[in-house]
Amino acid sequence: MKILIACDMEGISGVVDWNQVTPSHPEYQRFRHIMTADVNAAIAGAAEGGANQILVSDGHWNGTNILIEELDSRAQLNSGSPSRFSMVQGADSGVDAALFIGYHAMVGTLHAVLDHTWSNQRVANLWLNGRLTGEFGLNGALCGSFGVPVLMVSGDQSVCAEAREFAKGVLTAQVKEAAGRSAACCLPLAESQSLIKNTAAQAVSQFKQGKGTRPIQIAPPVNITIAFINTSMADQASIFPGSQRLDGTRVSAAAANMPDAYETFRTLVNMVSI
Ligand SMILES: [Zn+2]
Repeated sequence: MKILIACDMEGISGVVDWNQVTPSHPEYQRFRHIMTADVNAAIAGAAEGGANQILVSDGHWNGTNILIEELDSRAQLNSGSPSRFSMVQGADSGVDAALFIGYHAMVGTLHAVLDHTWSNQRVANLWLNGRLTGEFGLNGALCGSFGVPVLMVSGDQSVCAEAREFAKGVLTAQVKEAAGRSAACCLPLAESQSLIKNTAAQAVSQFKQGKGTRPIQIAPPVNITIAFINTSMADQASIFPGSQRLDGTRVSAAAANMPDAYETFRTLVNMVSI
């Protein structure tokens, strides 16, 4: 059984502030170790649950956060950027199921550590086929288009709640209780990482028995609507062939299927300057 462990950084144990996840800041180096330890906990749990092939995809910033020298040697690592499927690179490589580690809630969520959707500086909101969607839903639906269910998520209480809305039966490892965008009560690391390990083990073992959550399905064609932070960004994105300008800040585009929608969304976001 092949498991994809897709990782972000904002929902990693102990993270409450942008400085801790920004490569140029001295605090970031501490949290790379902690991120790698959270991922190792998920690897150990996945292996205990019955995975015999594990692929880790590093999805934060430019995808070079996880320390390979500290990574459990049972896993291979997708590192760097850009890659076709970015945060869930490898979702189309014959994986059976995915685990999302260190995720965060969508932009605008109350009491959510570092809530945003893809780009804090560009995206005010995202809808897929009219449904407000954050990174859990976007990456989960891409996995779903390959028949891959997301079995668990780790992060704060808000991303856990968001995940349950998208994927009934998804298991959650809540490693912190957010009190604001940059404030949370965090579990001690030993407790947090044992929770991640146990949740991963349970998720993979119940999947092996044919139980648990189903792949997230978004019926094609997929309409992508982005509300940009300002009108200038929407002006720039409107140049995208076939796009529609809905109002001052919103631009929409259509894609034939979820993989195309994922690439279209990223192209629209990347083409606008701040
Ligand atoms: Zn991130």
